[in-house]
Amino acid sequence: MEKLYEGKAKIIYPGPEAGLVRVYFKDDATAFNGQKRAQIAGKGVVNNQVSAALFRYLEDQGIPTHFVKLLSEREMLVKKVHIVPLEVIVRNRTAGTFSRRYGVEEGRVLPKPLLEFSYKNDALGDPLIYPEAALALGLLSEDELERIRELALWINTLLKDYFAQRNLELVDFKLEFGRLEDGRLVLADEISPDTMRLWEMGTGEKMDKDRFRRDLGGVEEAYQEVLRRVLAGVYTKSDYE
Ligand code: 5GP
Repeated sequence: MEKLYEGKAKIIYPGPEAGLVRVYFKDDATAFNGQKRAQIAGKGVVNNQVSAALFRYLEDQGIPTHFVKLLSEREMLVKKVHIVPLEVIVRNRTAGTFSRRYGVEEGRVLPKPLLEFSYKNDALGDPLIYPEAALALGLLSEDELERIRELALWINTLLKDYFAQRNLELVDFKLEFGRLEDGRLVLADEISPDTMRLWEMGTGEKMDKDRFRRDLGGVEEAYQEVLRRVLAGVYTKSDYE
């Protein structure tokens, strides 16, 4: 089947009709702007199903997303969008590049959720970008920026609560937004252990891609455990029908 696009973790295929595309989730994992590569067995299955469950939950709460339905263990049908070339990062605690950039230990609770933007550009290494610079570059409009801010903080509140119910703390995560044909903004890409930091409540054990980035071992097991907790009470067989 002809590919429309192949990224590091997903392949996009044409959908059954105009305006829809099929997303296939691979087991390939990369980190540090593609310098570290490996396969994580079963990751595609986990990320597809975790993303589907989270998109459904968010839609139910009023967040517009690109999600249409699950097609198989590794594939979902989504609305075709033009991606806004920004990584929208929400942080509840210090970790990762924030800790490195400012020289603070990981795990400090931030006084309020922090929004950061990176310019999605592999050649430049996805640099941090001021919202004003994103506007100056014409990456999005002022109205879109305001809407993205509002949606990202709302999504944070919803996902923090969702994961707290599963004994996981949402430390930080990355979102991408896209424009539908008619220009409306929707949440796109994926939301999975590849794109979030999830710490076990109480112990702080890492249950996300940091296990791969930092060679902590137990990578497959952590992904499977996140899926297990997400599916508890959510999954039904009709998901594939
Ligand atoms: P950091 O900026 O600390 O590296 O990442 C913050 C959060 O956003 C983490 O949960 C991380 O997984 C996610 N994130 C940031 N950039 C990327 C990216 O390029 N790809 C993926 N998959 N996740 C990212």
